[in-house]
Amino acid sequence: MTSTALPTTDDLRARALAGLRNVGVEVAEGDDFHARTPLTGEPLFGLTAATDTDVEEAIAAARAAFLTWRTTPAPRRGELVRRLGELLREHKSDLADLVTIEAGKIRSEALGEIQEMIDICDFAVGLSRQLYGRTIASERPGHRLAETWHPLGVVGVISAFNFPAAVWSWNTAVALVCGDTVVWKPSELTPLISLACDHLLARAAEEVGAPRDVHRLLLGDRAVGEKLVDDPRVALVSATGSTRMGREVAPRVAARFGRSLLELGGNNAAVVAPSADLDLAVQGIVFAAAGTAGQRCTTLRRLIVHRDIADTLVERLTAAYRKLPIGSPFEDTTLVGPLISTEAFTRMQQALARVQAQGGEILAGGNRRLTEDAPAAAYAEPVLVRVGEQSDVVREETFAPILYVLTYDTLDEAIALHNDVPQGLSSSIFTRDQQEAEIFLSAAGSDCGIANVNIGTSGAEIGGAFGGEKDTGGGRESGSDAWKAYMRSATNTINYSSELTLAQGVSFL
Ligand code: NAD
Repeated sequence: MTSTALPTTDDLRARALAGLRNVGVEVAEGDDFHARTPLTGEPLFGLTAATDTDVEEAIAAARAAFLTWRTTPAPRRGELVRRLGELLREHKSDLADLVTIEAGKIRSEALGEIQEMIDICDFAVGLSRQLYGRTIASERPGHRLAETWHPLGVVGVISAFNFPAAVWSWNTAVALVCGDTVVWKPSELTPLISLACDHLLARAAEEVGAPRDVHRLLLGDRAVGEKLVDDPRVALVSATGSTRMGREVAPRVAARFGRSLLELGGNNAAVVAPSADLDLAVQGIVFAAAGTAGQRCTTLRRLIVHRDIADTLVERLTAAYRKLPIGSPFEDTTLVGPLISTEAFTRMQQALARVQAQGGEILAGGNRRLTEDAPAAAYAEPVLVRVGEQSDVVREETFAPILYVLTYDTLDEAIALHNDVPQGLSSSIFTRDQQEAEIFLSAAGSDCGIANVNIGTSGAEIGGAFGGEKDTGGGRESGSDAWKAYMRSATNTINYSSELTLAQGVSFL
């Protein structure tokens, strides 16, 4: 595994400030917490966190804006999102820089994250003319039965560090065309890209004449998120992050009969069948397992390989892992950037120690790199581990590039192993056998919200609904009809006859 040279913290600070300035943000420095960069592991500059008063004021402002935004025609609301999409296109490179500096993504993936935001804006603009209800056959003469969709209210968006901008846009673009307003609490690890996104949306709002307060940003840690969770004026809490976070958020929102949309941890697996095209499988597996330094919710964490091809596949993967270029995510040749923190590396080491104690064997990777160039950063070699059986470590999500290799003999066994984890986000099968593929996609197959064939577990398009089952939280965001989570439906019965006919043949008076 080769390494590439790192920029200094001073370079990164200057680049972040230049990017923000190009977007139109002048950073007001503060001393509550620091914007940091995982590239060197060092602080960039201090920022101010939202106070209780700021939270109160933001929710009140978003609620007041909702009262006018909800009656703005949806296609007009779409104009705001169209303008946002144009601004994202214009500033794609600067925004991608901020994603790389704060989240450590390689340039191509950071640009991909901004492209995903542009894509969801395009989708949401179209959606603004397609918020369809339906007409239902009424059992009564002279009656019409209809279902209509209405805006919900203020949506509280709580987001994770690893998709610091795209997850916001999935929620915000769709919520805005649905007539909701948004209060956003981003990850405390990625405040700068959040400032940039908020600024561009405010600019779009000003240009199209939408209320400024359709969107408010609140920087800070989980305490700020908890305020959104508990506030009855926040109609929907859309929370993306760890399952631990979801376990805390869901009951608190439910206790006040609010709605929550949860996008939580994954523990994604790919089954590799004997008929698989191994060239394609190796490429798909390495991208899904080592890409984003293993820090995607959809990262491939378990490989379930048929015993007949296990040795061949493991040999090819080991060779590919040994060649992965690790280093500065700004270098075109780098494929693996840093972990978000040294704590993340410690958790990776702990998981590896546990799996080895349970009979696992490390086949490639696992060392820390670039420790002399950046002692406070955590560059880790992606790891390939052969495990004898589905140990408890394998059933957990460790947010790092560890790929556990398990073997199977029958498809039933593979599917049972596949589903034997608490999480249910993404899954895939590599096979040329159509029957196997269809079984994997059927009700008797993968129990995940995303199930793929001949492609890895990560890298979803925005057109489909995104989300997972079980400990992943059950939410759906982004495309398809995920928009319905951001609206409330009303069933209307309209009597255009001159008789009052009661349903179910009931007579009265
Ligand atoms: P995290 O759970 O530590 O934090 C996520 C967000 O929740 C942050 O903004 C944090 O401040 C906030 N938060 C934490 N506890 C809270 C509480 N009790 N109340 C209110 N807010 C709270 O997650 P992370 O480390 O930033 O991100 C990594 C995790 O996110 C992984 O588990 C990953 O799988 C998951 N993730 C899931 C998806 C998905 O769509 N399913 C997408 C991205 C990330």
